[in-house]
Amino acid sequence: MTSAETHNPHADCQRSLEELYQYVDDWLDGETRSTIRQHLDSCTSCEDVYRFQATFVAMISTKCRSELPDELRRRILEALEESC
Ligand SMILES: [Zn+2]
Repeated sequence: MTSAETHNPHADCQRSLEELYQYVDDWLDGETRSTIRQHLDSCTSCEDVYRFQATFVAMISTKCRSELPDELRRRILEALEESC
């Protein structure tokens, strides 16, 4: 088994998607941001999700500066994970 086979890209996707909301909203520290940035550069499916979330967050933040309710946020993440 090669290292390419043992590496599970979907695990990276899972982790990136979990942090993506915070990435979009600029809540992450520099190290975590760069990890996600690297993943987005190499993973088009997550990059698509990022673009969608960035648009979504921009839309929300223009209407309401407060944080999204946890349940709504969780439902968005679940829907995105199913599509990745
Ligand atoms: Zn990915």
